[in-house]
Amino acid sequence: MGAFSVLPTDPVTQTTTRTQALTWLAGQQAAMQTLLQQLVDIDSGSRDEAGVTAVARAIQAHLAAAGIAADLESVPGYGCNLRAGIAGADAGAPIVLGGHMDTVYPRGTVAQRPFRIQDGRAYGPGVADMKSGLVLNVFVLQALAQAGGANAPVRLLLTCDEEIGSPATRDTIMAEARGVRAVFNAEPARVTGNLVTARKGSMAIEFEVLGVAAHAGVNHAQGASAIEALAHKVLALHALTDPATGVTTNVGCVNGGIVPNMVAPHVSAQLDVRYTAEIDPDALLAQITAIIEAESRPRTSGRITAVRRTLPMRQTPADLLALYQRGAREVGFSVEGEFTGGAADSGLTASVGAPTLCGTGPIGGHAHTEREYCELDSLVPRAQALALAILDHP
Ligand SMILES: [Zn+2]
Repeated sequence: MGAFSVLPTDPVTQTTTRTQALTWLAGQQAAMQTLLQQLVDIDSGSRDEAGVTAVARAIQAHLAAAGIAADLESVPGYGCNLRAGIAGADAGAPIVLGGHMDTVYPRGTVAQRPFRIQDGRAYGPGVADMKSGLVLNVFVLQALAQAGGANAPVRLLLTCDEEIGSPATRDTIMAEARGVRAVFNAEPARVTGNLVTARKGSMAIEFEVLGVAAHAGVNHAQGASAIEALAHKVLALHALTDPATGVTTNVGCVNGGIVPNMVAPHVSAQLDVRYTAEIDPDALLAQITAIIEAESRPRTSGRITAVRRTLPMRQTPADLLALYQRGAREVGFSVEGEFTGGAADSGLTASVGAPTLCGTGPIGGHAHTEREYCELDSLVPRAQALALAILDHP
């Protein structure tokens, strides 16, 4: 009404912007694969400072060639985080594109099984989780810059320690996510093609059980078996699994005892716990602690030695999913939201109230295995759908 519209809220200009972004991305399949190969062929396991930093530098160089400056922030012991951004038509709250540069694979994995393509799928360490997601975010940022930007400023934050529960970057991620318009986290889309609209949180708990050593033949009664005590604890811990609440518990590793003819004086174990946003994790941890510390058999004791936590991702707001779905339909695919037991940094952003949609990366499967793959023909349409969701975000 008399006011002059500014880029890109004017309908005509906005149509041009959207078309520009889609057209530019449509021509980037080969360039996306080239960057994907470059990133996959760098070993960047968590805590591999040099490897993670090499990934960040490769992305920084790629963005620099496109005229977008990226900053690397050193994270001692883990490598660095990468930040880049483009201005929006308004100076309001930003939209954040998130991802992690670390993988679960040790140095040397690339030499054993480097990037390769077979039958339309790319293979290699971290190809789905989540180097293809990094590529997608980078190209979406470029597409938006090419097209003149969105309403919102857009920020890219790539971190270095997600696969080990983000011990060094969780505060950075949560600070970045406070008060933003939205967070799109480019973890791989599910095998079904679906996005991730809720995730469980997790606790990785290490504990040990102490007993009393004794000769298993000569003076059996003087012993107190740490293994027997652990067996009771494992049953009690596994009994906390409840399909109705979504809590799962799994003692996945045990290590202990010395020889068969000695009553075991010591055993250690590792417990994985998953829970939904509806569960009080402190109360759950209190239950677990009580089981571990109980004198399960006379003269034995137990204690927790380490706890690592990731937060659950509460449900994506319906309007944010709908925004993405509209963009997806426009570029030719339909998609739903899905719940997963896997944890990710999207739990951190959702926990500070940021509307968060996860799994916006290309379609991939078998993450954390040698069969990990990425569907190459999903690179462009997933990038286009994300670009539209950002451009259409009010
Ligand atoms: Zn991941």
